[in-house]
Amino acid sequence: MTSSPFNELLKYTKPGPKRRCTTCETYSLRIYTEPGTLDEKVVCTNPACRASPFHREE
Ligand SMILES: [Zn+2]
Repeated sequence: MTSSPFNELLKYTKPGPKRRCTTCETYSLRIYTEPGTLDEKVVCTNPACRASPFHREE
């Protein structure tokens, strides 16, 4: 997942639950659907969040 640009991945998300991420405590949660599947999962889109698939080590 780290090979895809952030904006590319965002295209496969939609607004998520109205609650805070338990890791970074921001309202960055969205529903991510893996392309080609119906598999929906809640992901955190805060790149600074350790629990986020968008997280990057700088
Ligand atoms: Zn988070």
